[in-house]
Amino acid sequence: PGQSHAGRPWVALYTAGVPADLPLPTPSPVDQFRATARRAAGDPAVYYFDRVMTFGELDHLSSALAAALRDLGVEPGHRVALFLQNIPQFWIALLAAWKAGAIAVPLNPMFKGEELVYHLQDSGAVALVSLESLYDEVARPVLGRTDVRHVITTSELDFLARAPGQARGPRVGEPVGLAGSSKRRFSETLDLVHLCQRLERAPDPGAEPGPHDVALLTYTSGTTGSPKGAMNTHGNVAFNAEVYRTWMRLGPGDVVVGAAPLFHITGLIGHLAVAGLAGVPVILGYRFDPGEMLRLIERWRGTFMVAAITAYIALMNHPDFGRRDLSSLGKAYSGGAPIPAAVVERFEAATGAYIHNIYGLTETTSPSHAVPLGRRAPVDPDSGALSVGVPVPNTVVKVVDLETGRDLPPGEVGELVTRGPMVVPGYWKKPEETAHAIRDGWLRTGDVGRMDAQGWFYVIDRRKDMIIASGFKVWPREVEDVLYRHPAVREAAVIGVPDPYRGETVKAVVSLKPEFEGRVTPEELIAFCRERMAAYKYPRQVEIVPELPKTLTGKILRRVLRERGAGQ
Ligand code: AMP
Repeated sequence: PGQSHAGRPWVALYTAGVPADLPLPTPSPVDQFRATARRAAGDPAVYYFDRVMTFGELDHLSSALAAALRDLGVEPGHRVALFLQNIPQFWIALLAAWKAGAIAVPLNPMFKGEELVYHLQDSGAVALVSLESLYDEVARPVLGRTDVRHVITTSELDFLARAPGQARGPRVGEPVGLAGSSKRRFSETLDLVHLCQRLERAPDPGAEPGPHDVALLTYTSGTTGSPKGAMNTHGNVAFNAEVYRTWMRLGPGDVVVGAAPLFHITGLIGHLAVAGLAGVPVILGYRFDPGEMLRLIERWRGTFMVAAITAYIALMNHPDFGRRDLSSLGKAYSGGAPIPAAVVERFEAATGAYIHNIYGLTETTSPSHAVPLGRRAPVDPDSGALSVGVPVPNTVVKVVDLETGRDLPPGEVGELVTRGPMVVPGYWKKPEETAHAIRDGWLRTGDVGRMDAQGWFYVIDRRKDMIIASGFKVWPREVEDVLYRHPAVREAAVIGVPDPYRGETVKAVVSLKPEFEGRVTPEELIAFCRERMAAYKYPRQVEIVPELPKTLTGKILRRVLRERGAGQ
């Protein structure tokens, strides 16, 4: 009461009744999870395909694994790498690492040998939890070259194979079923399920991490350079989970649709941390398969979805989209990449669910901005960008001049600089990069945007993606938005390619919906854009490809396209 919101005009846009500030510090994610497990031990925590694992089981299995890690010599502050898909063991291992006081290092399971070596060396991980299917080819060959002393393997089938008729996962203390003949053994690795079975009773908690202790190293290229580990603290994680609970309105009765990869901060917070805090289940399906995810949403009545817009596009383009009952899906959020308004409209028309834009970086441990539930994002009249919403509680965002760094008034375009309880203290063992990106708690996002007079924010583009054509600034996202309005376009990405007269010229690379393949020409798409935008902006070149290159988190890889484009 009496708290001033001066300098935060956006607070007036919050949904009625939600707080402008959350009490700090927030209890650690492990404490939150323990409280949930005590209160709701028999409630479902994970729907893994057609199986259920309860909070009690998860608590017991993770405590057992934590004790095993301690026995193996993993100490507080040591790093434990997770090289896993979206399976329950991700959550078990994450909680185990935290309960043992260790730092979890989630790694993209698509990494090949050298990428894995880089991340293991950089983080100095002493233990690696790997999928069996990735072990032989990817993980084993890198071992002599890193500090990894223990490899724990697990299979995506471990918690699927059950005695016939046993609908639920293992009870506390009960043996966990194994997938008979498909189970592979490696003499030099430990088996995750066996480690979880070794203890009959969960051990007493050891050294519990505090809010300033590092919880995760999440790797990102940030705005520049090679991948670096953002140090998300327990305080960062707990705060963002609390934002989901109070501000984004995740609560009792919700079922989280696990459509984002868990190794990325959006999935890790938006699926696991939030479910642990709110005591609601999350649907996991190994990897994102649109047809299977549609089935699982219907089967488990998924209500709360947070994913990249490309996941929504993939669901919409699946032949089962119109056939599945998605009426349970009430709260839909999309973050991680710009969202074309046309996609939001189409999804809402088909399902009734409005996709709320959310925005954040790995360095902000998930969203720093979101469209408040129940509100609709306005569109920036100049750039056509759909608003990314407003800063979440306890957070301040400035727009600064791209050249001078000076604060800019509402309406003007500059770099977004964010300060709040979700901003990481820095990058792992990278003081120079940390000093470049974070100063006095203010994070330079590398994103260019503006705030309007009411307090809505717009992200126009990434600083480094800007194209300069004939001296004019062109923001790829703006051109992409127009392309998405063409009925044949499935996905679109716009890049700058070198041009002898214009410096750079605008090129669009698009994939078509199956029913339009071979029926639309590049010239037609160029003409479509020319009618709808200024002469310096519309693409002079359009290339039609079967598929756009993407990261597992659903971001279109403009860099790969630029490399290809430049080589032509
Ligand atoms: P990452 O660290 O991988 O999560 O990537 C963060 C970057 O994704 C941001 O700096 C933005 O450029 C982009 N991004 C995230 N959310 C949005 C959004 N809602 N709209 C536009 N760009 C976004």
